[in-house]
Amino acid sequence: MGATRRTMLIGGGALAAGVAGLAGRRIWLDREPAALPAVDGEGHLLWQNWSATEHAYPATRLAPASADEAAHALKTAAGPVRMVGASHSFTGLVPTPATLISLDRMTGVLGHDPETNQASVAAGTRLYELGPALAKIGQDMPNLPDINKQSLAGGTQTGTHGTGRGFRAVHGGILAFDLATPRGEVIECSATSNPDAFNAARVGIGAFGVVTRFTMQNHPLSRVKKVTSLRPREDLIAGWDELLAKHRNVEFYVIPFSHWGQLITHDETTEPVRPRGPDTDTDGQMKLKHARDLLEFATPLRFWMLDDLIAGMPEQVAIDEGWKLLSNERSVRNREIEYHLPRETQMAALRDVLDAIERYRSDVFIPVEVRRIAADDAWLSPFYGRESGSIAVHTYYKDDYRFFYTLIEPILRRYGGRPHWGKLNSLQHDDFAALYPRWKDALAVREALDPQGKLLNPYLTRVMRRG
Ligand SMILES: Cc1cc2nc3c(=O)[nH]c(=O)nc-3n(C[C@H](O)[C@H](O)[C@H](O)COP(=O)(O)OP(=O)(O)OC[C@H]3O[C@@H](n4cnc5c(N)ncnc54)[C@H](O)[C@@H]3O)c2cc1C
Repeated sequence: MGATRRTMLIGGGALAAGVAGLAGRRIWLDREPAALPAVDGEGHLLWQNWSATEHAYPATRLAPASADEAAHALKTAAGPVRMVGASHSFTGLVPTPATLISLDRMTGVLGHDPETNQASVAAGTRLYELGPALAKIGQDMPNLPDINKQSLAGGTQTGTHGTGRGFRAVHGGILAFDLATPRGEVIECSATSNPDAFNAARVGIGAFGVVTRFTMQNHPLSRVKKVTSLRPREDLIAGWDELLAKHRNVEFYVIPFSHWGQLITHDETTEPVRPRGPDTDTDGQMKLKHARDLLEFATPLRFWMLDDLIAGMPEQVAIDEGWKLLSNERSVRNREIEYHLPRETQMAALRDVLDAIERYRSDVFIPVEVRRIAADDAWLSPFYGRESGSIAVHTYYKDDYRFFYTLIEPILRRYGGRPHWGKLNSLQHDDFAALYPRWKDALAVREALDPQGKLLNPYLTRVMRRG
């Protein structure tokens, strides 16, 4: 055997052993996290959020059937009293060892006005129920989040949003709401009735009381065309403003360790219905995971393999009512940080985030999400007073996410970002006070409604009170 052939064989063997070793390491790291006990020592049932970043064993669980019952519960139950919607927030907004209130018995459309496209909706209604219920009365929410599992109250309380130039977050369509307070009363909040409470509690992270009913300004029901296509990453970044001007709802996902991104657009159409096909996102994400598992430490090879895999993927088109297309299934459990930046800094921040991931975090494989949200005037809305561009980084639920705080968050803060209230961040009271011009006003409203701090769990105490 000549020297060259022997060298090649040895080199090939070493490479194969290396790949097998790395794959083995990944298999070892890929273990299912230990499950928490379903019941604690005192017989209290486990509450856990979707991403398994938070949990508690509340001593009492209440499900009021009316606003008065909610107010009575708030006044009389042991604190901290926390409200829960669909448990899809990543942050510690919900956990309490004392009283957990769900509005699962207060759901559905309560009334509507066909002239104005306004509807009165019970606050516990899940978005996946709301879409078909509004469609029945000829109404539509033209902008929805990426999933539709949230309750309307839980979603709006954290500033949940979709995407599109000129489209506000979900709370942007709220004209009025009823709020049950810890003082045991129910107040109507709107621009003309208790306007300070309306401005402070519209995005209120559940710190002002129980929202029991909304008046929503909807749009006439419409049909949209959803197009999902793969585009070169650079085209998406350079063409973002043009894409925003061209499409009703538009977002893109950058696929890390590739030169590609996925563009998703929705535009109104009168073309005939073409129902969406089965979900392919889960399969796609698992393929990205396999590429990560195999080539985690061979970045050039990973780029080459992903670029090759992605380049030939076909465009997908679906045409239907918006509520059937705007949201997706996310069955791959993840952890997420999302910040909302001034729109002028969004693309520069995105470049820095991608650079940081591709230099230092070869374990990341879930695409980075990029959206646009219009300004609004809710005092604690992350979009208060400014059109915003959002950037979201995700990790697989079995992977470490602590680098969000040390690597990603400093970049997003440097570019003037405000964190999503429901997604992972490390900010404290003084940080929020500096980011929100009406912070003090909002907190004064909160103290007046909840002077004893009954709604404050440890997380909210950290956020709402100076340490
Ligand atoms: C897979 C996934 C995808 C997501 N996609 C998006 C997205 O596309 N866009 C986006 O912006 N966000 C998104 N999020 C974040 C999510 O929308 C928010 O965290 C939202 O708050 C979750 O709603 P929920 O009903 O689960 O509320 P929960 O998490 O249960 O509660 C959220 C807050 O609302 C309060 N609350 C609940 N009900 C009431 C009530 N009746 N009165 C007063 N306060 C109440 C709670 O106390 C808590 O403070 C996503 C999250 C996940 C896990």
